[in-house]
Amino acid sequence: MPGMGSGLVIGNQRVPVPGVDVTSFLDDPALRLASYDKRLRSSRERAWVHLVVVHTTGGIPGGSDLRPQVIKPGFGPPSGGGERVVASWTSDPKRPGGAHLVVDFDGRAYCCADLLSDATYHAERANGCSVGVEVVQGHAEAELYQSQLDVAARLVLEICRLMPVPIQWQVPTPYAGKPLLRFVDSLAHDSVPLGDVVGIVGHRDLTANRGEGDPGDALMASLVAAGCERLDFGAGQDLTVWKERQAQLGVATADGVPGPATVKALAVAGHPDGIWQAPISSQPTS
Ligand SMILES: [Zn+2]
Repeated sequence: MPGMGSGLVIGNQRVPVPGVDVTSFLDDPALRLASYDKRLRSSRERAWVHLVVVHTTGGIPGGSDLRPQVIKPGFGPPSGGGERVVASWTSDPKRPGGAHLVVDFDGRAYCCADLLSDATYHAERANGCSVGVEVVQGHAEAELYQSQLDVAARLVLEICRLMPVPIQWQVPTPYAGKPLLRFVDSLAHDSVPLGDVVGIVGHRDLTANRGEGDPGDALMASLVAAGCERLDFGAGQDLTVWKERQAQLGVATADGVPGPATVKALAVAGHPDGIWQAPISSQPTS
């Protein structure tokens, strides 16, 4: 039943997203992921979901298909919505896979799992600490639609704002053609709880098994246009910047990782929802 606009599901609550039509598995059972495409988060994971990993369903360019993405204007025709994508995920129990959200060509979004309770199988080691968002990509021309990308970006920022511990609006600097080693390393070492990178990353930033087109530069550009800050995660710029911010805010442990205590301090200091949210146009014009 697309078009009902029931909202995201966060901790078993329906949460509408202003301006984005989101249908969830609570209203359309065909959107529910299979048990082998997700698991429950551990209590430790649930305490602080700190990443949104963005994808394209086609992942083009990547693997053996190196066609460039074609970004078409406006919205496109619906591709079958979340139901089609979920059916492709659930069709094979031997190939687990799924994400929390699907954004179709027409800008409609489909919520397939609980953003807080469920870890969906979209990002390997980052599953436990992340929300997964898939943007539908066509195979005919490797196409995406500009308005679809802009809605996906708005949706991702709203997800960051709506999580119990809001996630900072920051993305990596332009893709260097390989995963962010520091990020991959931090997820591999459990001494840093569930990695030390916070914000919005592409699947391509996490694994060499995916190419540039998962999700591609256009979606990252839409995220920046929607208000995300670009930081060089690979060089640790986020850690430097956040250590300074934490010191200014009086956060006891200025470790450079904007966790729950930093979010609280930001909210107290007047940052809406505890998100830093860099001003979009602060460039002097004179
Ligand atoms: Zn992916």
